[in-house]
Amino acid sequence: MITGKTKVVCIFGDPIEHTLSPLMHNAAFKELGLDYCYVPFLVKKEKIKDAVEAIRALNIRGVNITVPHKEAVMSYLDEISEEAKYIGAVNTILNEQGNLKGFNTDAYGFVKSLKEENISLKDKFILLLGAGGAAKAVAYGVLKEGANIFIFNRTPSKAYKIKESFSQIGKIEVIEQITPEIIEKFHIVINATSSGLKRDDPMPLEPALLKKGQTYVDLIYTKTPLLKEAESRGCEVIDGLGMLLWQAAKAFEIWTSTPAPVDVMKKFLKK
Ligand code: NDP
Repeated sequence: MITGKTKVVCIFGDPIEHTLSPLMHNAAFKELGLDYCYVPFLVKKEKIKDAVEAIRALNIRGVNITVPHKEAVMSYLDEISEEAKYIGAVNTILNEQGNLKGFNTDAYGFVKSLKEENISLKDKFILLLGAGGAAKAVAYGVLKEGANIFIFNRTPSKAYKIKESFSQIGKIEVIEQITPEIIEKFHIVINATSSGLKRDDPMPLEPALLKKGQTYVDLIYTKTPLLKEAESRGCEVIDGLGMLLWQAAKAFEIWTSTPAPVDVMKKFLKK
């Protein structure tokens, strides 16, 4: 029940209709009897500054930030965690007496989702498809775990920028062409492009290049055509639901200082 004492958390994004976050977080608050509620807000690109002001004005406890605001929002915050600064994107805000601090829980969420599947990243060779915001979080997370990354992006200049900023953390290279010889050496292939979200999207990789025994991870939550192809070719496959779950669990803990009831959140996601 919402009362005058209920703390409000929310998400800013555009589009926002598809978001699963309210379901997950409200179920978690209910499970633990925490007096919080989670609300979605459609925030247009040009309104993000006003929306951040509203966090203070309305005494909103915390916010998730999604497409297209993860980078732009950084200019309007009082503090940014080291990790979020490095990645260059914020997906979680904590409001403490009007002081707004930005965090990035996507990198944690991605790595944790692989650990949950007993996949170790240390010394593994990884092909990372994409060089947008999500790819940066993934690159940061897996480099910190000691993996070797090769980035391939439709626009190579963006991949080279990631290499430039992340080469102090670990071994990172850019490849401009994926050949059968090159793909042999990868243990894990990660799709961090947004291609596969819509039914008629082109596949970000020629499926015949995937090899039996490789692990294929897609950040998209639904079963993309490439994930299905990977599965039929004998790859172990992981979709984006695990990352979504664990980035949310971390945000929950930032806002409430309480461990998230992950099993309950997972149940709602699976539904
Ligand atoms: P961005 O818009 O920042 O980046 C999109 C990336 O996809 C770019 O590298 C872009 O290449 C590439 N791309 C887009 N269309 C194509 C195409 N047709 N062929 C090849 N490459 C393409 O998006 P994000 O990085 O924020 O998100 C990427 C994906 O990750 C989304 O699908 C999102 O839903 C998912 N995601 C999932 C999360 C989870 O919790 N599971 C968390 C965050 C994101 P180019 O640079 O050439 O334009």
